[in-house]
Amino acid sequence: MPDTGIERILITEEEIARTVARLGDAITTCYAGIDRELVVIGLLRGSFVFMADLIRVIRLPLVVDFLSVSTYGDGTVSSGELRMTKDLEQSIEDRDVLLVEDIVDTGHTFSKVLGLMQARRPRSLKVCTFLDKPSRRTCEVAIDFCGITIPNEFVCGYGLDFAQRYRNLPYVGVLKTD
Ligand code: 5GP
Repeated sequence: MPDTGIERILITEEEIARTVARLGDAITTCYAGIDRELVVIGLLRGSFVFMADLIRVIRLPLVVDFLSVSTYGDGTVSSGELRMTKDLEQSIEDRDVLLVEDIVDTGHTFSKVLGLMQARRPRSLKVCTFLDKPSRRTCEVAIDFCGITIPNEFVCGYGLDFAQRYRNLPYVGVLKTD
């Protein structure tokens, strides 16, 4: 069973669907009237499930792209140097860009990625995250579209992993501690 090890469900499939629909509405309203396709960029790998659902509720012409980054050194500490392991396929210069993340925790990853993207001179750059753990923040990031704020717990499912497992769970759960 893929979900062995999950102690309890924190966010149900129904709550996820409601959240994604709300975000889709907000994003559609925000970008209504833009003259070129919105560029929606997902940060791999955690955001891919959320991205797939989100783009289907954004009622605007858009294109998607993906970016992958990893942190040098100890993988459990996300304050180290960032290395881009997969770059975008297209230029974002003078484009309206929406960066999509699975979860903002300390904020280090997102703020560094935002810096990298900003250097490419998009026309606008906004941020959407499925989950937010503000109690862990050590690096401030302005989030334009936020799904669900969660307490300081390590969560899995709906794209989020533990050692690459659990990404396929349709809900978000908390792992057993042992
Ligand atoms: P930050 O740089 O904001 O501390 O880290 C963000 C990244 O850490 C996320 O993209 C995600 O990969 C990982 N992360 C942070 N909190 C969690 C969590 O509760 N569960 C999982 N699966 N990953 C997390």
